Amino acid sequence: MKYDMILDPTPGRKAFLLGNEAVVRGALEAGLSLASTYPGTPSSEIGNVLHAVAKKAGVYFEFSTNEKVAMEVAAAGAASGIRSMVFFKHVGLNVAADAFMSTAYVGVRGGLVVITADDPSMHSSQNEQDNRYYAQIAQMPMMEPSSPQEAKDMIKEAFEISEKLGLPVLFRMTTRVNHMRGVVEYGELVKGKPKGRFEKAPSRYVPVPSNARGMHIRLLKKMEEAEEMASTSHLNRVEGEGDVGIITSGAAYNYVADVVEEHGIRARVLKLGFTHPFPRARVREFLKGLKTVVVVEELEPYMEKELRAMAQVEGIDIRIHGKMDGHFPRHYEYTPEVVKRGLNSALGLNLPVGGVKVREITVPSRPPVLCPGCPHRATYYAIGAVLRAKKIRDETIFTTDIGCYTLGIQKPYEMADYLLCMGSSAGAACGFAKATDQPVMGFAGDSTFFHACIPALINAVHNRANMIFVVLDNRTTAMTGHQPHPGLPIDGLGDEAPALDIEKVVRGIGIEHVEVVDPYDIKETKAAFRRAVEHNGISVVITRRECALIMDARNRKAGIFRKYDVNQDMCTRCYNCVENFACPAFYRDEEGGVHINPYLCDGCGVCSQRDVCPFGAIEEVKKE
Ligand code: SF4
Ligand code: SF4
Repeated sequence: MKYDMILDPTPGRKAFLLGNEAVVRGALEAGLSLASTYPGTPSSEIGNVLHAVAKKAGVYFEFSTNEKVAMEVAAAGAASGIRSMVFFKHVGLNVAADAFMSTAYVGVRGGLVVITADDPSMHSSQNEQDNRYYAQIAQMPMMEPSSPQEAKDMIKEAFEISEKLGLPVLFRMTTRVNHMRGVVEYGELVKGKPKGRFEKAPSRYVPVPSNARGMHIRLLKKMEEAEEMASTSHLNRVEGEGDVGIITSGAAYNYVADVVEEHGIRARVLKLGFTHPFPRARVREFLKGLKTVVVVEELEPYMEKELRAMAQVEGIDIRIHGKMDGHFPRHYEYTPEVVKRGLNSALGLNLPVGGVKVREITVPSRPPVLCPGCPHRATYYAIGAVLRAKKIRDETIFTTDIGCYTLGIQKPYEMADYLLCMGSSAGAACGFAKATDQPVMGFAGDSTFFHACIPALINAVHNRANMIFVVLDNRTTAMTGHQPHPGLPIDGLGDEAPALDIEKVVRGIGIEHVEVVDPYDIKETKAAFRRAVEHNGISVVITRRECALIMDARNRKAGIFRKYDVNQDMCTRCYNCVENFACPAFYRDEEGGVHINPYLCDGCGVCSQRDVCPFGAIEEVKKE
C-alpha cells in the first residue's frame, strides 16, 4: 500500500518523507489514539496518510464535518486521557477558533496537538494570515518545525509538553515545511491507548463564568511555566558565532542557514522551535555581547514585536532590525534572495542578489481551468444559457464558495462575484437577497454544503430570502484530493458509513422547491434552472455528477477510452463549443477549423449534445 512505509516498525530506518507524512510518523511514535480534520491544503496529506494507515495503526481517525467539529472531537479525546491530534489549514483555525479558545481554558489530560498549516504566498488560500497570533490570543504553547525530520521529532515533544502543562499545543507549519521532502530517521512506534476514560469534573471542564474566572488565572500561571520550558528547551538553540545576532524560525531558518553558510557570514543564529511563550530568558542570554540583532521570519513580525517589547521593558540596549523598520517584507514566502536582500539592507552587507541565472523562456499564460469532462462546466453553461434567455444574466449576483467550482470565476462563465470563506455562498446570498432587488444565486460544493452552508440556508428559510442555491455535488471533496464527506458511504477509517442525502437535508430545513439533476444532461439542467428562476422564494438545485477524475480513473481501469472529435463536414464554425462551453480539449487551427485534442478529451460526451453543438458536428470517435 502507498503509505505502508509510515508503519515500518524499524527504529533507525530512514525514509524520504513529505513534512506532512513525517508528522503522521511522529504522532504514531508518540502513541496517537485519535485524530480529526477537515481537509485543506497544505495540510491535506496528513489526512490522506491517516485515512490509509489509521485502522492498521489502531488510531481512530475521522474527516469531520468542519474544523470546529474536528477541534471538539479531538478536545474530547484529550479530555478522556488519550493522545489526540487535530489539523487543518490556517483559515480552518478561524472556523475552529471558538472551540480552540475554550480548550486552552478547560485544558487536557491526554496530549492534544493542534496543527495549523499556514500558507505564505497563498498558493491555495484566500489570505496569508499568520496563525502564530492565535497562540497569543488563546494562551497556548506553540512550536514551529523547519524540516520533515524536525516535524517528526517535534510533534512527539509537543505531546509531552501538552501533557506536562495540561494544555493543547499549537503546532504551526507552513506550506514549505508541509510539502518539503527530506530524509527522516524513524524512532519506535508506540501503540496509543485504544480508549480513554472521562473523569467528570464540571468545575474543570465547564467554563461557566464562575469556573472560567479561575480557569483564566490557572492558564496564565501555566503559561509562566511554559515560558520556563521554552527557555530551557533544546528546540531553541544557538548556532555559529559572530558579532551580529539573527533570530529566526520555521521555513525562514532554512534560508538563513544557507545564506550564512554560503557567504561565510559571521553571525550567531538563534533558531527558535518553541516560539510561544517567547523564551525571554533564552533570548536574553543570546543577546549578551551583541550590538545588533536581525529577526528573520515569514509573514507578520511576531517574534520581532516580542523582542522589541522585551528590550523596551528590560532596558536592553541593542539595535533590532526586521520588518518594522522596513528591511524585510511582511508578505509572501521567503527565499534565500529575500533573506540576502534583507541582510544587505539591515547590516549594510553586499551579498550578491539575483539568484541562479536561467535562460528566459516565454510561455503562454495558463490560468487554472475546470478539467475536461468536469460536471461544473456543464452546470455553469446551462445556467448561463437560461439567464441570458431570461435577460437577467448581467444583473444576477453570484456568490461562490471554496472548491474547484470557484473556477466559475473564469471566462466565459464569470459566475463568481463574491466570496469570503467556506459557507459564505449561502450566507452572503441571504444578505444580497435582502440588500438588493437583484436576482441572487449561490454556489457551493457537496463537502462545503455540509461544512458550513446548512445554518445559512436555515437563515434563508427563516428570513424568507428570495434566492437560488446550487449544490454542485461531485460526490467528493475534490479540490483537496478526493477525501470523503458526510454525503458519502465511507468514513475516515475507510469503513462503510451512513451517507446523508443533501436533498433530504434541504427539504428537512423547510425548502420546498428542490430539484436534483445530472448536469451532463444539459437540456434537463436548463429546464431545472428555468423553473428555479421562475420560483418565488428560495429554491435549491443539486447538480449531481461525480468528479471527472474519478470517472476517468474508473474508465482507465476498465479499459474504456472514449474520445470525441469534430466532424469537419458538419461543423459550421459557429464556435459555441469553443467560446461558450469552453472545454479545454477544444482548439482552433490556423484556418479557423475546430478540433478536439484527443489527449485532453476524457470522453464525457457532453459537448455532443445539441445544446452545445446545434449542428450535431461533435461525434464519438469510432475505434478502428
Ligand atoms: S458548436 Fe459545433 S458547429 Fe459550432 S464550432 Fe463547435 S463543433 Fe462546430
Ligand atoms: S467529450 Fe467534449 S466536453 Fe467531454 S472532454 Fe471531450 S471535448 Fe470536452
